[in-house]
Amino acid sequence: MNDVVDATRGWIDAAQSVQSDTVALRRAIHAEPELGLQTPKTMAKVRAALAGLPLEWKTGPSTTGAVAVLRGAKPGRTVLLRGDMDALPMPEDTDLPFKSTVNGTMHACGHDTHTAMLASAARLLCAKRESLAGTVLFMFQPGEEGWFGAKLMMDDGLLDNPKPDAAFAIHIMPNAPAGTLGSKAGPMLASSDKLTIRILGKGGHASMPHHAVDPVPVACEIVNAIQVFITRRIDIFDPAVVTIAKIESGSTNNVIPEHADLLGTIRTISEESREAVHSGIARVAENIARAHECEAEVKVDLGFPVTICDGRAVEFAQQTVESMFGKESWMTMPSPLMGAEDFSYVLQKVPGAMLFLGVCPQGQVWRTACPCHSNKMVLNEEMLARGVAAHCAIAERFLQRGLG
Ligand SMILES: [Zn+2]
Ligand SMILES: [Zn+2]
Repeated sequence: MNDVVDATRGWIDAAQSVQSDTVALRRAIHAEPELGLQTPKTMAKVRAALAGLPLEWKTGPSTTGAVAVLRGAKPGRTVLLRGDMDALPMPEDTDLPFKSTVNGTMHACGHDTHTAMLASAARLLCAKRESLAGTVLFMFQPGEEGWFGAKLMMDDGLLDNPKPDAAFAIHIMPNAPAGTLGSKAGPMLASSDKLTIRILGKGGHASMPHHAVDPVPVACEIVNAIQVFITRRIDIFDPAVVTIAKIESGSTNNVIPEHADLLGTIRTISEESREAVHSGIARVAENIARAHECEAEVKVDLGFPVTICDGRAVEFAQQTVESMFGKESWMTMPSPLMGAEDFSYVLQKVPGAMLFLGVCPQGQVWRTACPCHSNKMVLNEEMLARGVAAHCAIAERFLQRGLG
């Protein structure tokens, strides 16, 4: 362990030495957030921050993202570090001096910090180029928030040559003690699919329902039956969450509408239960509708798959983090979170891990701090240095010894 400690501790000072640049870049990106697959201004800020460094930039047609390639002085393994870049379509209600200047757009998921941490890690690892054996890929990725940016960059071939042997990403979390890093082997985040159900009946006068076929009570029955299906037919140890988040039907008090629409989300942590939920919901909805002489049209739009961390990669990250910041800095997550991530596409192809970095704001309690996607989300910027150091130490150590 001592050799690990010596090798990794240097990155703490290095990350601290560029901390003001990390924060400045983060704030500049925060003030000018961009959405979706096109984040050209954010990319330009990154390119300016890394100008003149020995990086090859690979871009593709589908996004404005780029993979910056750092080839060490000697050949060896290849490791990928990823930072996502896009913001959310929501208003920002913080008092930050660098709050969003773009109406209705906010970096509420911390992707501004991910980009800034990755840029600083790239700078520090470039400075060590002479002693590196192998290649580091810095994946600057737009379009994480439901846009499939990671998948599109892979489809564009940006991760093909050289192919990474391992991949790591860091996501900040205000709802974790400041400075802790954590992950878990196996499923860590859920798959996320969009569920749409239309119940077709027959419109008519609200006073004479027997002349019509009222889809409204049928829709209500289906909403409840889905929850019964989930608790009775899905293994409690391979859990699923289905939330019907929107019900829409009708126009006024005395008309039976023609149809009722349900909209919701499906979350699972295995492909098996994902498929079981898809087919089960269709069965339940269609048969309940049929029992009441309605018809149900069930549509599932596939979102991101389950994010699955490689056990060896998590252990490797844990060792690296503990060697730098002490044992108390690591938190093995007790269970997956039902949120979703498109880094899952990278982890389908490459063994690796996503880490969470606790950034609970100073003076707040992590359990009650405003979470990611809150219009009031703020974070402890001092902890970004830990993320930078973790990126660097993980990359360097992986090139030296692999996952072991
Ligand atoms: Zn998010
Ligand atoms: Zn995010």
